[in-house]
Amino acid sequence: MPFDSNLYEYFGNIHMHTTYSDGAGSFDDLIAGAARAGLDFVFVTDHNVLVREKEEGYRRGILTIVGQEVHDEERAVPGNHLLCLGVETDVSHLAKDPQTLIDAVNRQDALPVLAHPIEEYTELFPRHYPWHSWEVSGYHGIELWNYMSSFRGFATTVPRALLLGLLPYRFSRGPLPAMLEKWDELTRQRPVVALGGTDVHATTYRIGPVSLCFLPYDHCAKAVNTHILTETPLWGQPDTGDADFLHMNVRHDRDLLLNALRRGHCWVGYDLAGPTKGFLFWAEGAANSDSGLAALMGDTISLPAGQNLRLHIETPAAEEIRLLRNGRILSQGRATSLSYDVRDAGVYRVEVWKHRWGKLRGWIFSNPIYVRRV
Ligand SMILES: [Zn+2]
Ligand SMILES: [Zn+2]
Repeated sequence: MPFDSNLYEYFGNIHMHTTYSDGAGSFDDLIAGAARAGLDFVFVTDHNVLVREKEEGYRRGILTIVGQEVHDEERAVPGNHLLCLGVETDVSHLAKDPQTLIDAVNRQDALPVLAHPIEEYTELFPRHYPWHSWEVSGYHGIELWNYMSSFRGFATTVPRALLLGLLPYRFSRGPLPAMLEKWDELTRQRPVVALGGTDVHATTYRIGPVSLCFLPYDHCAKAVNTHILTETPLWGQPDTGDADFLHMNVRHDRDLLLNALRRGHCWVGYDLAGPTKGFLFWAEGAANSDSGLAALMGDTISLPAGQNLRLHIETPAAEEIRLLRNGRILSQGRATSLSYDVRDAGVYRVEVWKHRWGKLRGWIFSNPIYVRRV
């Protein structure tokens, strides 16, 4: 295996809200939940505000990166929420024109990611915020699984909404099928990185006589995460209290994570159903191929004529592995590993489904390996 000795895995949440916008908790509340879940990093993405100076850095050993979620508050039809991961100056004044906004985020070397691009809604909760402006270009990725958003379609009646608040894990099945389909359509044109976020707000609702905190920080930090692979380790929080040293480490570590996200070296893991730590999807030259061929999820590999590629999948537990090419299942089986020889160009990605709480649930969604023939 060409990668195992050189890879480091970190996991965290990339879409979270605090009292700086419409979240119910402070940074300390958010970090307390993240610490209990054992997260390595969080991206805090409050609506149309960037509170970076005050809040970014290491908190309780967790790398806290402050980005923002930008949308046009005056848009006639709500939607077009853009996660701006890694921005250093506020871009919310550009919200009116999604293309201008995306270009501005890219100019900062940050990552524009479409938040909850496809959303279901019900009569009980008719407000929804999908992405409308699909004609834009240059966005880096999509939020394939937005945990909060994925529940919207279930809240058809008050009793169901109540049950949803009490037992969210009973309802959670995976990314919306329409979202997976849209992603497959997009990646046939160009690489689009998939991320998973919770969109935690920890809002308390009153339903009749009952008051209920829907998807609190503790719960969300354990639910849908993005797992990132890097080739060198994070430097972490220095032991000394030296401010320059700390600043240098934070700078290095945020860049390391952002670069891995940029390359798609990551997967979406539903850790509430069981830790997804240890998953791997990579490719190397098959027996008759040049041994120098190697690719990790997110990579594009050019395959010379006459050479084959072997895809490898390893999962942390024996569950239902599905290997897909251009959105269609190519091979599947219950196992902890699967290898597959490919000779055709295409977009190869992996889903792992796990039986939990009486149903088959989406557990792991890898970024694709893009195979081009040369
Ligand atoms: Zn949003
Ligand atoms: Zn949000």
